[in-house]
Amino acid sequence: MHWLEAEQRVLDPELVEKLDPHRLTMRVNDASRLRCIALAGEIGTTVSCGVYAQRPQCCRDLVASWEFGQRSRQCDLARIRHGLAPLTPADWPAAAN
Ligand code: SF4
Repeated sequence: MHWLEAEQRVLDPELVEKLDPHRLTMRVNDASRLRCIALAGEIGTTVSCGVYAQRPQCCRDLVASWEFGQRSRQCDLARIRHGLAPLTPADWPAAAN
């Protein structure tokens, strides 16, 4: 995200790090698995974003696979990275009806 976005969203500076002269990225607390420092809970059971209201636009833009009827390659790859199967339309009961 651009540094100005972080300021406008009032993101805690402790949660981000410099990516290049203009961009920041969320810090990770597990570099081997790229787990965002703001992610609370246990992956594979229940997780939530600890800064949901202030989350950057890139997070807002990433939708879960099939939540709105389309596959999300980024979602699938993130789940696979964490040892989870990609979501399917059946994971969204309302959409399956
Ligand atoms: S939505 Fe974004 S800020 Fe929130 S936990 Fe996920 S990666 Fe981190």
